[in-house]
Amino acid sequence: MRAAGPLALTAVLATSACGADPVGSATRADGSQGEKTDVTAAMYPLQWLAGQVGGPDVTVTGLTKPGTEPHDLELALTQVAGLEKTGLVVYIKGVQPAVDEAVEEHAPDRGFDAATMVKTLPAVAGEDHEGGHEGGHEGGHEVSYDPHLWLDPARFATVAIRLGEKLAAADPAHAQGYKDRAAKTASDLGTLDGEMAQGLSTCASDAIFTSHTAFGYLADRYKLRQVGISGLDPDAEPSPARLAEVAKVAKQEKVTTIFTETLVSPKVAEVLAQEVGAKTAVLDPVESQPANGDYLSAMRQNLTALQAALSCS
Ligand SMILES: [Zn+2]
Repeated sequence: MRAAGPLALTAVLATSACGADPVGSATRADGSQGEKTDVTAAMYPLQWLAGQVGGPDVTVTGLTKPGTEPHDLELALTQVAGLEKTGLVVYIKGVQPAVDEAVEEHAPDRGFDAATMVKTLPAVAGEDHEGGHEGGHEGGHEVSYDPHLWLDPARFATVAIRLGEKLAAADPAHAQGYKDRAAKTASDLGTLDGEMAQGLSTCASDAIFTSHTAFGYLADRYKLRQVGISGLDPDAEPSPARLAEVAKVAKQEKVTTIFTETLVSPKVAEVLAQEVGAKTAVLDPVESQPANGDYLSAMRQNLTALQAALSCS
């Protein structure tokens, strides 16, 4: 049994950052003393958040490769071994069954589950998403809430503050830096939240038609209605009945745009768009590193796409 609790974090300070100095007491690029804390982030938005809050005091390792869909991530043995040594694992229980399991087994005392930091929304009811995110993964953790909480900047700001507190407690020598950067990150997210609230306040329509049902938090925050084609799991093919139902609603709503995603095949959305006489546009669930930019710029692109689709003034 390893030492439990936050002490483990300081006990496993990063080894790689000071590779040239066997004693590990190097002065860092920013002039501060000491070693970096290893933080493992399960998927891109959390990786971004950990980098913002951790700054020069952490080394962030992402478990999901850029450009890959995170939900059905399989962990390599080296990644699992890395969890034994990392200081903190930032994840959201319910997104990636492989990560949920690995944290439980290999880092039970070092998990930071963002879903426990905010008020979650229930998983979308009445939809055909057998198995939810766990489809096909035996031993996955069924959760009753929607895990896509990073798509609400206000909730994500709360996670930033909590992460700053957690890192400050675990690495007290750099506590002030963590708290300052967490406050700055929360403020950046607050600015984004204000822009989105303003930009989506006066729109001709409030219905967003999406591929996978990732935008529940965004819809909740900005008073939109999400109609998801394939449920919470992006890989789940909608049934013909579901597709017919969505097409009917889309026609009633006189929808102009069916949203697709970068990492999921747009085929189903394109078929639907053609059937109802709409076009397609990208709405990024920011589950993976954007090709250009970061979480904030991807969300601002989403705002622009939403304003066009919903005819906002
Ligand atoms: Zn998702």
